[in-house]
Amino acid sequence: MTYAERPVIGISSCLLGQKVRYDGTAKRDHWIVERLGKYVDYRPVCPEVAIGLGTPRPPIRLVGTPESTRVIGVEDPSVDVTEALEDFALNTAAQLRDISGYVLMSKSPSCGMERVKLYNARGQAEKKGVGAYARVLMQALPNLPFEEEGRLNDAVLRENFINRVFAYRRWQTLRGNGLTAKALLDFHARHKYMVMAHSQAAYQRLGRLLSHLKGVDLAAVADAYEAEFMAALKRRVGRKRHVNALQHIQGYLKQRIDSDDKQELSDSIEAYRREEVPLVVPMKLLRHYFRRHPDNYIDQQWYLDPYPESLGLRNAI
Ligand code: SF4
Repeated sequence: MTYAERPVIGISSCLLGQKVRYDGTAKRDHWIVERLGKYVDYRPVCPEVAIGLGTPRPPIRLVGTPESTRVIGVEDPSVDVTEALEDFALNTAAQLRDISGYVLMSKSPSCGMERVKLYNARGQAEKKGVGAYARVLMQALPNLPFEEEGRLNDAVLRENFINRVFAYRRWQTLRGNGLTAKALLDFHARHKYMVMAHSQAAYQRLGRLLSHLKGVDLAAVADAYEAEFMAALKRRVGRKRHVNALQHIQGYLKQRIDSDDKQELSDSIEAYRREEVPLVVPMKLLRHYFRRHPDNYIDQQWYLDPYPESLGLRNAI
């Protein structure tokens, strides 16, 4: 397996250390810059600077209801940048068709993905808002993986996001190379255990989408497949589901390893189920046995090797 194609990730500029916040500061995120930055390229965007607000600038905030939100100046309520941020988001979405994920800055009235302070007419705030730029961008790019920097501190959410980014990159490569029935079927086969760990029902629905590919509009099938595939990967995978996938894969070794090795592998999967070891432990053991006893089908499964191992994401889940 190769990660030759580095995903490009859109990102709120302040997270890379650019001093573009309203008060002239940055919010550099060490993990994003130092660790993830080794394996991806970033496309930084600061919507507030892009619409001409300048740095430093008077602060803005969300005002209204979740259904009808405006972005208004805190000190001067006659300042309303709602349309400017929304228009910029639409233009940016059209220019970012090649990116494979997006990391947003939390709590921002422009970039916040959820739970942003939203002020009502009496000036009271509830965490019910979505940043104006983020909201339009997410609507325009519904299959793109989005995540906030704060949520990336959660090991499960972090692994889920990075898995989606690399899977989406592979999907974009497939589409970029020109759609064929064979390429779609191959993609589906190679993601079998990954998708099944997230949702068996989704894997079956995806299979049905690909069951009749002769004489059909492949682009339409691919659009439907992409939406279903990315929605499936968004679902959280609990230990039980990983155990299920690991045991299925273990079945391919049945005739190839002796009873001691089988027991060691089963013990490792059970230890993972009991939360005594992280996912990387049974994964490493499986890969070790498949190196000694190669299996063409399992070797092709992205589930065993979905993103650069040195990110260490499976050490923490
Ligand atoms: S949160 Fe968004 S708008 Fe605010 S400084 Fe960062 S990139 Fe700019």
